[in-house]
Parts: sequence; C-alpha cells; structure tokens
Amino acid sequence: MSAIERIQCLIIGSGPAGYTAAIYAARADMKPVLYEGLQPGGQLTTTNEVENFPGYRDGVTGPEMMIELKDQAQRFETDVRPGFIDKVDFSGDVHKCWSDDGKEIHADTVIISTGASAKYLGLESEQKYLQLGGGVSACAVCDGFFYRGHETVIVGAGDSACEEAHYLSKLCTKVTMLVRRDEFRASKIMAERVRKTENIEILYNTETKEVLGDGQLVTGVKAFNNKTNEEVEIPCTGFFVAIGHKPNTDIFKDFLNLDETGYIEYEQPGTSYTNVKGVFVAGDAADKTYRQAVTAAGTGCMAALDAERYLAAKH
Ligand code: NDP
Repeated sequence: MSAIERIQCLIIGSGPAGYTAAIYAARADMKPVLYEGLQPGGQLTTTNEVENFPGYRDGVTGPEMMIELKDQAQRFETDVRPGFIDKVDFSGDVHKCWSDDGKEIHADTVIISTGASAKYLGLESEQKYLQLGGGVSACAVCDGFFYRGHETVIVGAGDSACEEAHYLSKLCTKVTMLVRRDEFRASKIMAERVRKTENIEILYNTETKEVLGDGQLVTGVKAFNNKTNEEVEIPCTGFFVAIGHKPNTDIFKDFLNLDETGYIEYEQPGTSYTNVKGVFVAGDAADKTYRQAVTAAGTGCMAALDAERYLAAKH
C-alpha cells in the first residue's frame, strides 16, 4: 500500500479555472497539487484562435494559451501532474481523493475545476473536421467571428442553440438550424426570437447525415428529414453543434449538491463554496450560462481566495 500524501490544496482539472486557481494558491504558499485530468488543457485545446481573452491583443491559439497558463502556474511551483482523480470521499474533515495511479491524497482544501464537455453528434465526418480545425465548433461565441459573411449550419433546439443561432445570424449571411423534432425545446421567448430572425432558416424533423468537406475545410452538410427520408445538401463553411454540455462531475455526486443536469450547485451565490466545507468549485463544472475562458479564470481566482481564507480560519 502506498503512503498517504497530505497536502493543503488539491486542484482537479487543468482548464483556465484550474490554472488560475493554481496561480493564486501557489502565490499564497498553499503548495497546490494539480491533476490535469483526461483532457489536459481542457476545452480550449479544441479551439483554434482565442480572440476574446483580455490581454492577447492579437489573439492566441487555445493550445498555446493553455501552455502559457500551465507555465505560469509552474513558475510559482504548482505541482502539475498528469493523470486524473477517479474517486473522492468528502465525508470527513479531511478530503480524501484517489488518483488513477492508485495514490491516496488527503487534502485540506479541494478546488474542483473539472469543466464540462460539449456534446457532439458523433459522426465520423463531424469528428474529422473538428480535429482538423476545419469548420466544426461547439461554441458560436468563441468561433462565430471566423464565419463573418459566410453561411453556417447549427444543430440543436434548446436555449443554447437558439442563443448561438441568434449570435451567428448577426455575423453570417445565413444560418440554417437543424431541429430533430417538430418543435423546440427552448423557452418560448428564445424560440420566437429565432423564428423571427430573417436570415435564420429552421428545418424541422431534420437530422445531420454527414458533414461535407474538401478534406481540409467544411463545405456543407448533408441532412435528412426523419419523417420523409428526403435528403438535402446545405452549403456552409461552419457547422455548429449546440446539443448541450455534460459537466464532468460524476465522481462528486455522492457528496456534492448537483442540479438535475449534473452541474455543481454553489452553496452561496457570489462565492465558490459547495455544500462541503473546504471543497470549492470553479469554471464550467458549475456554470451552464457563461462558459467562457475568462469567466472560468475569474471563478478559479475566487476559489483559490476562498480556499486560502478557509485554511487561515482553521489554523
Ligand atoms: P438542452 O439539453 O436544453 O437542449 C439540447 C438540444 O439539443 C435539444 O433541443 C435536443 O433535442 C437537441 N439534441 C440533443 N441531442 C441531439 C442529437 N443527437 N441530434 C440533434 N439534436 C440533438 O441543452 P442546452 O445547452 O440548450 O441548455 C442546457 C440548459 O441551460 C437548459 O436548462 C437551458 O435552459 C439553459 N440555458 C439557458 C440559457 C439562457 O437562459 N440564456 C442559455 C443557454 C442555456 P430534443 O429537444 O429533441 O431533445
């Protein structure tokens, strides 16, 4: 049996929330240990250009930004480790966590920054152009700008899809929205706004068959009507998927209050507190509204400050 490791601060997840928490915790001498998780760098590593993170006047690629954040956290001696935490026990005063390589860690404070994963359709062609950075995206606010003056297609019928379709409609000449049923899931007001927008065309009972491209870039979408089986080809340069996100919070469900879709609930609005003392949350694991790198970084800072104050009050 390996020895139990005692630490002051464990940070789970390596997106902007986790690294910002690490920078603050390390500078406060909490000697944080950060586990990178299954997707080191988080969702931004699947984004191309980031132009809306303050301080990068000329933009930066997602992967580059995450390397800089990691370097910055390590500059203050954050112990960044590959691997992930696969089990926790938050029932006692000390928070027990186990890593995938079998290490048992007892942490006074835990900052959860495990993020969320955008859901995709899972089509081979969708994944191909997503990996290539060739025109598939799950974030219109992040990537819509690159399709200014172009035609785009968006899949989904919830509030996110409506919000994103509306956002795209201001940048793109035409947005085609593929709705798999004959009605929206979104709130009436959001659906109505989309219906009233002139350059959004809604195709009901329509599902995606294939994302078309030239091998590098998306050129269109082949879709079919699931009532008539009739196929259509829609030219576009951008294919947006807005069918929901899944917060990466499964391992916490026995200890933390989650909402019905799995997001961690804040114990007190305006803080990073969860219902367990000494366990804090930052970033998309608790945020289904904003989901931006800069808001994740902001809440990472809050979580580290809250953790520092919690430790100070204990000693
Ligand atoms: P939702 O789960 O609400 O909606 C997902 C949508 O994607 C549904 O319309 C669903 O279709 C569709 N979908 C799922 N899988 C597929 C598939 N394989 N192919 C085609 N379509 C698919 O997710 P959202 O991200 O939209 O919203 C999550 C939560 O966040 C909601 O509670 C929402 O209200 C909230 N939110 C609020 C906002 C606001 O108030 N400003 C903005 C954004 C989100 P179907 O309907 O057929 O199941």
